[in-house]
Amino acid sequence: MISVEEALEKVLSHFDVLEAEDEELLDSLGQVIAEDIHSTINIPGMDNSAMDGYAVQAQSTVGATRSSPNVLRVTGEVAAGYLTKEEVMSGTAIRIMTGAPIPKGADAVVQFEDTDEEIRKAQNEPLTEIGVLREVEKGLNIRRAGEDIYSGSLVLRKGTVIRPQEVGVLASLGQQVVSVIRRPLVAILATGDELVDVGTPLPLGKIYTSNTYSLAAQVTRYGGIPQILGIARDNVQALEEKLKEARDADLIITSAGVSMGDYDVVKDVLAKHGEVTFWTVRMKPGKPLAFGQLRVGKRMIPHLGLPGNPVSSMITFEQFARPAILKMLGRKDFEKATIHAKSESHVKNTDGRRIFARVLVSKQEREYHARLVGPQGSGILTSMAQANGLMIVPEDVPAVSVGDTVVVQMLDWNVDI
Ligand code: AMP
Ligand code: MG
Repeated sequence: MISVEEALEKVLSHFDVLEAEDEELLDSLGQVIAEDIHSTINIPGMDNSAMDGYAVQAQSTVGATRSSPNVLRVTGEVAAGYLTKEEVMSGTAIRIMTGAPIPKGADAVVQFEDTDEEIRKAQNEPLTEIGVLREVEKGLNIRRAGEDIYSGSLVLRKGTVIRPQEVGVLASLGQQVVSVIRRPLVAILATGDELVDVGTPLPLGKIYTSNTYSLAAQVTRYGGIPQILGIARDNVQALEEKLKEARDADLIITSAGVSMGDYDVVKDVLAKHGEVTFWTVRMKPGKPLAFGQLRVGKRMIPHLGLPGNPVSSMITFEQFARPAILKMLGRKDFEKATIHAKSESHVKNTDGRRIFARVLVSKQEREYHARLVGPQGSGILTSMAQANGLMIVPEDVPAVSVGDTVVVQMLDWNVDI
């Protein structure tokens, strides 16, 4: 048996960052930018107003107060998206809206609140003149051309992970597509004579293939593209047949068939068509786990053989498939968020493996608390549904007692916990 770290190191050594491709802007969320992005435009493109108000020359406001306003002649109006030919001169003003380009001659904007516009409106006076109620300095309420992004400047570096704000920045540059590291295609094959697909009746003695769907959802969540290969029956030929469809995959995940049972044929197929890198990991759940390279057509494709038990399959995915997907995506943040929490439960570790116990983490006062959720059998998938974290009991810790501080790997990282 090897440790979780050793296993992860071995797994990761078989993956490289994938190639770049152009991706539609909105589809690129979570992907990694493949080349430095420079701007060819200034943002904003022109000096423009940061306020609704009046574009003026600052010197026209000298000496203005609430009791003795400086009255300026209003020569026009300009809204966002429009240009005006009108020029501001000493003693004149142009009514201006937020985002509108600053007219020629103006060097400041007086916001409405610092004018007598309200009073004039209330008295039904035409806005041909405006009283300025305070002195303003040059540049007030003007957003300068290029203050966000200068034309020619480096805006986003190669290697940046695209979040909603990067999507916005790219859109502000006018980019419809972006060059990113492509998403890995992850083939998912469930194995087992007992399995039937969702949407069909459930014969006695059979179960629905929940792993197909939890695994596909995990692939999607971490940025891959799931390719569902369906269900293979527990014989070598059925498996070989299905695996042919995985020829374009960057990673093949099979579920079940890696234990020591009579019908556990995944390992037989791996032995026949590939190289087995390891079989068992010192963890619980998830001890029976295979990793290797499978020959499909002319390609050798990395293969993770996950255990069939629904909880084991999800947890081993988190520990091994997730980092592999992230590495292929060009991401560097492989580690899941962990926190320290006070255990509210007693957990025994009888056989020296690393336990990943399903817990619900909550915040009490200023401390995190972690409580086991329900029975911890590796077939009890609802325990995953109730959990938001995995309490890690190290190999060399025989028991966690109530009140002990433990490390919890968060399944969901939610600051509001
Ligand atoms: P095995 O690894 O084939 O011994 O399977 C271990 C357990 O996982 C058995 O109880 C199987 O019925 C169950 N199992 C296997 N495949 C799936 C699947 N795709 N979805 C849900 N449970 C499964
Ligand atoms: Mg089986």
